[in-house]
Amino acid sequence: MKINVLTLYPEMFPGFLGYSLAGKALAEGKCELNVVNIRDFATDKYKSVDDTPFGGGAGMVMKPSVLDAAIKAVYKKGDIYYLSPRGMVFTQKTAHTFAKEEEMTFLCGRFEGIDERIIEKWNIKEISIGDFVLSGGEPALLTMLDAVIRLLPNVMGNTSSEIEESFENGLLEYPHYTKPQNFEGMKVPDILLSGHHQKINEWRLEQSKKITQERRPDLWTKYLNQNKN
Ligand code: SAH
Repeated sequence: MKINVLTLYPEMFPGFLGYSLAGKALAEGKCELNVVNIRDFATDKYKSVDDTPFGGGAGMVMKPSVLDAAIKAVYKKGDIYYLSPRGMVFTQKTAHTFAKEEEMTFLCGRFEGIDERIIEKWNIKEISIGDFVLSGGEPALLTMLDAVIRLLPNVMGNTSSEIEESFENGLLEYPHYTKPQNFEGMKVPDILLSGHHQKINEWRLEQSKKITQERRPDLWTKYLNQNKN
């Protein structure tokens, strides 16, 4: 998978993606990050990338001419996404969809955002990581890419851990325990020591349901609707 990143802060990449699972995937070439500095496409002597908004108001807007030149220089194929609080919220389902793509391009905003005409011209889609406002698209993109890269083929060692994880079956994950059996008087649930795999799976599913119902009534309602017979 090839990922083009358009940013004013190229030094933020690969950032934490250089570590652990994603770090290994990048080092092994399972995913290629092509990071481009938008400022390289500024044409005036101050290398300016932003200007004041028409209609007035606070903040600055990223200029369409500079963004257009940057996109032209990197874009070959695939979807272009702008990281934006106005976008659809990124979920595990989106991560799976992105992980199947050959090439994608992401545009990280700064200031108040980008000139709307760039979105129109390049048919750019918008994607958000949640209902809050960050100061830039970079932390959002790094977070999203972490979720995508671990789903690429042969990146996670144990693929069953992927199937059982939170959100994969519409539920949050069950609790985990490791050694020792007794930690400061707190014992591991007996069922997990029984060796009875079917019973353990049933217990885990029950726990998953309980936790989802208690913590995320929104997900629980969706789960019930999807599992109606
Ligand atoms: N004025 C904009 C916010 C600008 S924040 C608004 O009210 O919608 C500056 C940049 O941070 C944005 O251009 C975007 O790229 C990024 N950003 C902020 N919040 C984000 C979020 N929740 N998800 C993804 N990107 C976000």
